[in-house]
Amino acid sequence: MPLSLALVPDRSPIPAGGATESPEQVAFRASVRAFLSEHAEPRTETDPWQVSGFPDEAEASAYFEHGRSWQRTLADHGWAGLCWPTEYGGGGHPEWAERIFAEESASYGSGPGFVGATIAMLGPTLLAHASSGVRAQFLPPMISGQMAWCQLFSEPGAGSDLAGLATRAVLDGDEWVVDGQKVWNSCAQFADWGFLLARSDPDVPKRRGITFLLVDMSSPGIEVRPLVQANGSAHFSEVFLSGVRIPADQVVGEVHGGWGPARTVLSNEAAFIGRGGGAPTSDRLRDLAALHGSLGDPRVRQRLAAVISREKLQALMGQRIQSAVRNGCKPPFDPALTKVMAAGTRVLTGNLAAELAGPAALVGDDPIGNWVRAEVINRFSISIGGGTTEVQKNNLAERSLGLPREPGIDRDTAWKDVPRS
Ligand SMILES: Cc1cc2nc3c(=O)[nH]c(=O)nc-3n(C[C@H](O)[C@H](O)[C@H](O)COP(=O)(O)OP(=O)(O)OC[C@H]3O[C@@H](n4cnc5c(N)ncnc54)[C@H](O)[C@@H]3O)c2cc1C
Repeated sequence: MPLSLALVPDRSPIPAGGATESPEQVAFRASVRAFLSEHAEPRTETDPWQVSGFPDEAEASAYFEHGRSWQRTLADHGWAGLCWPTEYGGGGHPEWAERIFAEESASYGSGPGFVGATIAMLGPTLLAHASSGVRAQFLPPMISGQMAWCQLFSEPGAGSDLAGLATRAVLDGDEWVVDGQKVWNSCAQFADWGFLLARSDPDVPKRRGITFLLVDMSSPGIEVRPLVQANGSAHFSEVFLSGVRIPADQVVGEVHGGWGPARTVLSNEAAFIGRGGGAPTSDRLRDLAALHGSLGDPRVRQRLAAVISREKLQALMGQRIQSAVRNGCKPPFDPALTKVMAAGTRVLTGNLAAELAGPAALVGDDPIGNWVRAEVINRFSISIGGGTTEVQKNNLAERSLGLPREPGIDRDTAWKDVPRS
């Protein structure tokens, strides 16, 4: 059965606020509304069903650039980095500003896409760990979308065991020379700059000899090869680095002390993935159930209720973490918790979408069918990207619950002496 968009009710979110907001917040909300109504794209009928995996490289690139261009628009009008310090191009607003901005933006189709994801990962990391020179050089162009970033962490032999990475960085005068291979690097084929982990001291245990570097992706010696997935799109790439030269001062944190900022990135990433955002999947599932006449089915309603509750919890947890991180404080609980929860929710939503739509969703080229297929195919990806659910559960067990650590045979051994295949 072809699925008709005309049957889908309008579900534009009703912005929160009103009587509970201070005069300052009411005025801020009004100015956000005025800006968005002038500059943001109105949400179209198909927007909520849009999927971001494109089989066509040109379309994927256009989608990436679309996100960058919205980031630029935000910056041009003073709406980028709302709570960041003004000296780096941010707005210096209180933490509620981002919540209000997100609520008002939800009824529009414009968003920064992957550019926004890397800003959320790297921005607070630079604020917390980078020298004032690095912050001044990189934060303003990052916030304005002029420099779009990718994460160069994972390697063929270092994913869950990220600290075992083998890409080498050797200091030669006032430059690092980097050789190695990275993999699964989202949007690396479109990014201008990368944040990179490399082994700078092999003579000490693995976590103590890593340096966190910022690299221009157009540097000689970098080769980016997009990896084509089963669905035809190439979300990520392999990145080969051969004799890549990086100025010595493009370091975040201490030389050999890159594991600290790397953990901050991973924590920000888990919080970003876990917080959800955008149009809630439960809205789409409700529409799908209505289209297929299942909205009155108590079993479907129960599953929808579970999804809605989890989404709300994730959003609240995400807000608490984001506001702590922005204020330079320790998150009130381990961000791994939100990511584990989000991964579990995604499995529930993917399974429900598949059952509601049935086999009809596997054929046809309509927006709703495409959305269902993406939900089904991608339902496990967030339990891998940004650290697998198993590893996040290990982190929670050790860091939050104080359970005994996993045996680590290589914890105190120099990296160069650890047996590897
Ligand atoms: C959508 C997506 C986007 C990504 N984007 C990026 C990116 O932009 N940049 C980047 O650098 N990387 C990226 N990655 C890579 C991602 O970080 C790794 O895939 C992830 O850390 C897992 O590493 P791995 O694939 O090497 O799996 P492995 O580490 O080989 O794990 C294989 C299996 O073993 C399990 N396992 C491993 N160790 C343990 C343990 N100690 N206890 C219990 N189980 C364990 C894992 O849970 C998993 O099930 C992305 C991945 C995905 C799916």
